[in-house]
Amino acid sequence: MCDGKKGLVAEMTEPMKLEFKEYPIVEPTPGGVIVKVLQTNICGSELHIWKGLHPVIRSGALGHEMIGEIFALGEGVTEDFAGQPIKVGDRVVSAYFLTCRKCKPCQEGQFNLCENAYKFWRLPTEQAPHFHGTFGTHYYIHPDQYFYKVPDEIRNNVAASANCALSQVYFGLETGQVKAGETILVQGAGGLGLNAIAVAKEKNLRVIAVDAVDSRLEQAKQFGADEVISFTDYPTLEARVERVHELTDGAGVDVAMEVTGVPAAFSEGVHHIRVGGRYIAIGNISPGQTVAFDPGLLTRKAITIYPVLRYHPWYLKKSLDFLARNIDRYPFETLLDAEFKLEDIKGALDKSASREVTRATIVLV
Ligand SMILES: [Zn+2]
Ligand SMILES: [Zn+2]
Repeated sequence: MCDGKKGLVAEMTEPMKLEFKEYPIVEPTPGGVIVKVLQTNICGSELHIWKGLHPVIRSGALGHEMIGEIFALGEGVTEDFAGQPIKVGDRVVSAYFLTCRKCKPCQEGQFNLCENAYKFWRLPTEQAPHFHGTFGTHYYIHPDQYFYKVPDEIRNNVAASANCALSQVYFGLETGQVKAGETILVQGAGGLGLNAIAVAKEKNLRVIAVDAVDSRLEQAKQFGADEVISFTDYPTLEARVERVHELTDGAGVDVAMEVTGVPAAFSEGVHHIRVGGRYIAIGNISPGQTVAFDPGLLTRKAITIYPVLRYHPWYLKKSLDFLARNIDRYPFETLLDAEFKLEDIKGALDKSASREVTRATIVLV
């Protein structure tokens, strides 16, 4: 099937430098799948690497959010990971990590913490099967990488990011055991926050969103936030704490979710949560950044913290089902604000790094 066909893949040769390389598309190994990339997004974690801020990764294939069309199926692959029959030409999305099911965390059912999650990430592209990142014409889905068929009603530009922000916050909310009727505070109304608001609304929670950027709070309302708290109107911690308590009969929220990536936001959340409440920590992922924290307040309030890293891979299926149910309810396509062609990917990375664009996408069809 792949006889003689070639594809292009972008490889970061060093931070801020990119080269396109051409390789033959090799027949996928048993259990593997080769897709033709239809659309792929630039995510914050790529920018971190692109700018040379990652402590270890200095080169390799980039890209982890995409929707693709099945180009070649490895031996034995007839269904996706939900048992839906698949064939060449079907649109699919995949988790961005592997689930080996053999390492210690996998053996304990902690599939989101698989020790081999990134084994096939950002490898040099000369290593077969070459297409290790989604920034290319093709992408290799490893046998241990969960993938799912995309329902027809979900457009490419909405499906392409399902495997990152949406699946992440969906897993986070369920890990934090949110319940209908509860009030949640979503700290940060970026991609993660907006998706979290939409999922929390479907679960019939009351949502308060807080952010320092007013335009994001406008978006938060479009994604269903019942109340928003702006840093412009409430510039101090004390003012925000007072506002949250006003909105919750003096109690504080049942649960808060931190998706800002700002260490100080994590410390702040504890002030907003009620006694006996829960805290879902997702945004801060860079160790070594420290901040003042009030552990006594945490103990006195007996708050349970749920740190959430990656997600159980089947949350990608739940996310696709969620999108299919809510596709007309929320403006998911507005989460992307700039479109580029594959050949302009360096420009897309640079403009994202300089914050000229917020959320860039590469469209190949
Ligand atoms: Zn991502
Ligand atoms: Zn594992």
